[in-house]
Amino acid sequence: MSCAFDLDHYRELLDAIEAGGYRYATFDAGPEDGSVLLRHDVDLSLDAALRLGRLEREHGATATYFLMTESVFYNLASPHGRAALAELRDLGHAVGLHAVYPRASRDDRFDAVLAWHNPDPGYVHEPVSGFVNVMQPPWFTKGQYRSDSNQHWREGCPHEELARGTFPWLQLLVHPEIWVYEGGSMGDTMRAMLDAKHDEWLEQLADDRIDLT
Ligand SMILES: [Zn+2]
Ligand SMILES: [Zn+2]
Repeated sequence: MSCAFDLDHYRELLDAIEAGGYRYATFDAGPEDGSVLLRHDVDLSLDAALRLGRLEREHGATATYFLMTESVFYNLASPHGRAALAELRDLGHAVGLHAVYPRASRDDRFDAVLAWHNPDPGYVHEPVSGFVNVMQPPWFTKGQYRSDSNQHWREGCPHEELARGTFPWLQLLVHPEIWVYEGGSMGDTMRAMLDAKHDEWLEQLADDRIDLT
């Protein structure tokens, strides 16, 4: 099995979670043995989040999607953003706040759970008033956390250990853009995402009654 960052291998990861006998859990209670806390930080593309969320629904998987209110790359307050959030909820996923330090203000769009965007070591594991910080103990425990940041699993792709049931429980951070858009490197994946966004933005311009002739 090749550990590519694409949707085929993402399905294999979900199959491995099932083969290992794990259950999906959210962050509203402390992790229990046999849980997988599947977490998505949505940094760049709501469309990628939706595509992953639909695929997960087909596999009976539930995740927590962390959405930004101050992203340069998408607008959660736009009609598209509000529809995306509503669809993620309809698919049965939880929605938390992907916050930019130090701003952490909650509203009714979000569950009381937060993940900092690009956090520094000084505060990443600190409690946050009014929220569960996903990186505070007991939700974060060394050895029971894997992240795909920049198409690099620091401790290796977890699919084999998941299938064997090696982890007592696991917090698994997956960035949707990395898997939905294809490329052998992070740079190529980002260029594939920009190609898709180019077409989306042309549609948005037409919707906004811009003359594109
Ligand atoms: Zn793998
Ligand atoms: Zn982020």
